[in-house]
Amino acid sequence: MSTAPERNIVIIGAGIIGCTTAYYLSHHPSYSASTTKITVLEASVRGAAQGASGKAGGLVAKWAYPKELVSVSFPEHVRLAEQHNGVDRWGWRLVGCGTWEGRGEAIDHDAETGVGADGTRKSLGKTLGLEGSRERKRSDVGLPDDLDWVNEQLTNSYSSMAPAGETAQVHPYLFTTSMLELAKEQGVEFVSGKASAVEVDKSTRIVSGVKFTEPGTSNVQLIPATHVVIAAGAWSPKILPGLPIEGTRAHSITIKPSEKISPYVLFTEITLPPSGSSKHVQQANPEIYARPDNEVYCCGPGDNSAVPETVDDVLVDPKACESLRESVSSISKQLREGAVDRRQACFLPVVSSGGGPIVGEARNVAKGLVIATGHTCWGICNAPGTAKAISELIMGGNITCADLRKLDPARFL
Ligand SMILES: Cc1cc2nc3c(=O)[nH]c(=O)nc-3n(C[C@H](O)[C@H](O)[C@H](O)COP(=O)(O)OP(=O)(O)OC[C@H]3O[C@@H](n4cnc5c(N)ncnc54)[C@H](O)[C@@H]3O)c2cc1C
Repeated sequence: MSTAPERNIVIIGAGIIGCTTAYYLSHHPSYSASTTKITVLEASVRGAAQGASGKAGGLVAKWAYPKELVSVSFPEHVRLAEQHNGVDRWGWRLVGCGTWEGRGEAIDHDAETGVGADGTRKSLGKTLGLEGSRERKRSDVGLPDDLDWVNEQLTNSYSSMAPAGETAQVHPYLFTTSMLELAKEQGVEFVSGKASAVEVDKSTRIVSGVKFTEPGTSNVQLIPATHVVIAAGAWSPKILPGLPIEGTRAHSITIKPSEKISPYVLFTEITLPPSGSSKHVQQANPEIYARPDNEVYCCGPGDNSAVPETVDDVLVDPKACESLRESVSSISKQLREGAVDRRQACFLPVVSSGGGPIVGEARNVAKGLVIATGHTCWGICNAPGTAKAISELIMGGNITCADLRKLDPARFL
């Protein structure tokens, strides 16, 4: 006769936090598939990593924050990459990273023919950036020798963010889905469904299950649970009202550049020339991430768009994507001549009062209810530290890898 497992853990959300938590729980020394059942519940009909975790930059840095999580997360990223061939599997590598400040050059929209709709002839762009500027040397502006895909004539300054070896990257979609696949190999189950509520036993105040609806139906089902991890990113307050999490929408594009470019991540400050009806220069601050496999990821600023019903309902504004393409094209020939592959948007989970993320057991709400969200712009970096801490909490009763009292849900809820 089969017996019920001792632990029934339901993780809500298959973003990087949920999938990496599933990985660490299923690789914990006290895990056994016969005594611990782990379910990852995901609302998207498209599968895992459809939110910020699949559409982020992927920077992993020793200089990220909060320090308590970074000090566990960075070495864990190194270990995971060594253990599972992260170089090939999710594009793990060290990168150069710096702030770049300069001006953008006008984009010649008719560069292919050089003839405008009204018959006017425009520059083919061969001398763009040279007009009116004195010849600049890389050493004058601090550009590293191998950072050859931004125009040095347009560069005012470049400053490295950190010494070599302190900044790395992953492809966030590949990392997240790999974590889930490795967890599934250990017996973790993936269920497609949208969680609507966490059930709590009124007399004991211990979690007892998660209610969810299957995609495309209104049938409410229940998964029994001894532990529930809320890792639903910007959607977390829809499951636990009162959780002080907000979402900020950000757009991004990926470009296949015209030639292979060196591994750098740039935080830019670009002064753009007047365009269209505007007579004023404009500022743009796209982040640009060169990736292995000849892909470049670029993201822009956030906006105040409301968090929609599910991740599948996130709207993409084509104008925001085009403005991103124009700004990055204005400083790099390789990006200007490249082809845009993806145009996308996602919601960054932010703690409304600042600080965060929120990581730990929400004992004041219910025993067995664990929160893991609000990772702002460092969720890719801090997923392993968060997941390790939660696996220790659920499997061993205490977080021992770091002192996370500052992130305790009791401080936020
Ligand atoms: C433009 C941009 C660039 C970024 N760049 C970086 C970077 O370079 N480095 C870095 O460290 N971080 C970066 N981040 C931050 C990082 O992407 C996030 O912190 C991280 O992805 C959050 O992961 P998550 O798992 O908490 O949330 P998400 O990725 O949003 O995942 C939440 C999941 O929960 C699911 N869900 C929601 N509601 C329910 C429900 N009711 N039932 C079931 N499932 C549900 C969603 O469908 C989704 O799959 C960036 C973010 C943005 C927006």
